[in-house]
Amino acid sequence: MISNAQTAAEQMGLVYLAKIRSVLPDPQMVDVMSNLRDRVLICSWIGNQIETVNRSLQVHVTACDECFDPSDRRSLQILAVPFASSAQLDGFCNINTTPTTILVDVGRVAPADWLALVAHEYAHAHLGYPGHDRAYAEVLSHLCLGLGFAQPSFQPDDRSIYCWPPYPATIDPLAWWRGEGLQ
Ligand SMILES: [Zn+2]
Repeated sequence: MISNAQTAAEQMGLVYLAKIRSVLPDPQMVDVMSNLRDRVLICSWIGNQIETVNRSLQVHVTACDECFDPSDRRSLQILAVPFASSAQLDGFCNINTTPTTILVDVGRVAPADWLALVAHEYAHAHLGYPGHDRAYAEVLSHLCLGLGFAQPSFQPDDRSIYCWPPYPATIDPLAWWRGEGLQ
């Protein structure tokens, strides 16, 4: 019975990963299915936990929403995703889906810093186009004020805006996805 349950969870994890890959511009941005050592562990963990994780992320989106008038809020979904290390991404905002999709790698950022990552991607979703221009800095600045983060730089050549609000990276991004982050 236990092995059946594990298989069902793993199956749910694989279905989730397929869904994630369908909202990414390049499916190769997620590659845990080919991780022979951890594949079963990670897919099973996703099958068991992903709804809880995504609900937590939705709470952060709601916090961002509350910084704007209801009429100024965008229709968006947020999904946790284990990005391939080759993607070199903590978060990604796909403005070409309906609704707009924010994807965040909850393994690359400690839970206490998820809001910072969500706020960064939320600002992209709000504008509806990529880039870190002056308008982006203004939206992010508004969010930072509402959420209690330090203000971003408005200097056009200041690259800190690419990862603002700042947070430290985790050491082993896949540890969370193997379930070790819950211990
Ligand atoms: Zn960005």
